[in-house]
Amino acid sequence: MAKEKKIIITIDGWSACGKSTLAKQLAKELNYKYIDSGAMYRAITLYFLRNHIDWTKPASVEKALKSIVIEFVYNPKSKESEVYMNSENVEYLIRDLVIAEKVSDVAAIKSVREFAVRQQQQMGKQKGIVMDGRDIGTVVFPKAELKIFMTADNAIRVERRFKELFEKNPNITIDEVKNNLEMRDYIDSHREVSPLRKASDAVVLDNTSLSLEEQLNLALKWVKERM
Ligand code: C5P
Repeated sequence: MAKEKKIIITIDGWSACGKSTLAKQLAKELNYKYIDSGAMYRAITLYFLRNHIDWTKPASVEKALKSIVIEFVYNPKSKESEVYMNSENVEYLIRDLVIAEKVSDVAAIKSVREFAVRQQQQMGKQKGIVMDGRDIGTVVFPKAELKIFMTADNAIRVERRFKELFEKNPNITIDEVKNNLEMRDYIDSHREVSPLRKASDAVVLDNTSLSLEEQLNLALKWVKERM
């Protein structure tokens, strides 16, 4: 039987509109690698905060980046890959609102993006990968076979993210979550380097009123068309 063609699937879009959920669904269905590029920016932010790096100083950022090793390690229990920073599993820590409050400022720094993008492009060399983020279809893999740009109603996004964060931290308020999403979307789409944009050849997926099954089926239809 002919070997099935492996493609690159990019998923970009606003914060908390379900990109990683769809990416994981697709990776499982197609037996592809899933890379959460946002986890890399979150892990770098965690390192900067822990080590009191002044990220307004380019020399401090460059020096710090030399001490950061980020890896994705598959966890057979959860059947998902988890992010490690300097051999420490930080998958849980990086989801905290403390990180979300600073990550967009860190991700706007040119040298930070170069550091992350270089590694992301390396991970996609063999294809058979789903990667989600903000600049994956525009900058990281401009030649990807399938580019999805996700969006969803603002209120729905806030509600979904609030539920997720509330499980870990019952002190969190809906306003904190709403403000954080608005702030990140603003910074991410207005920054100078690789701002969040829909690639001209991306298909738009608005999942406001789609079930998980419906969004997966729609994306799989697009995958089939490109195989
Ligand atoms: O995807 P997630 O919400 O975890 O990403 C966290 C932050 O990382 C985003 O708000 C954005 O500032 C940054 N990011 C980015 N480029 C990517 C992925 C994430 O700038 N490709």
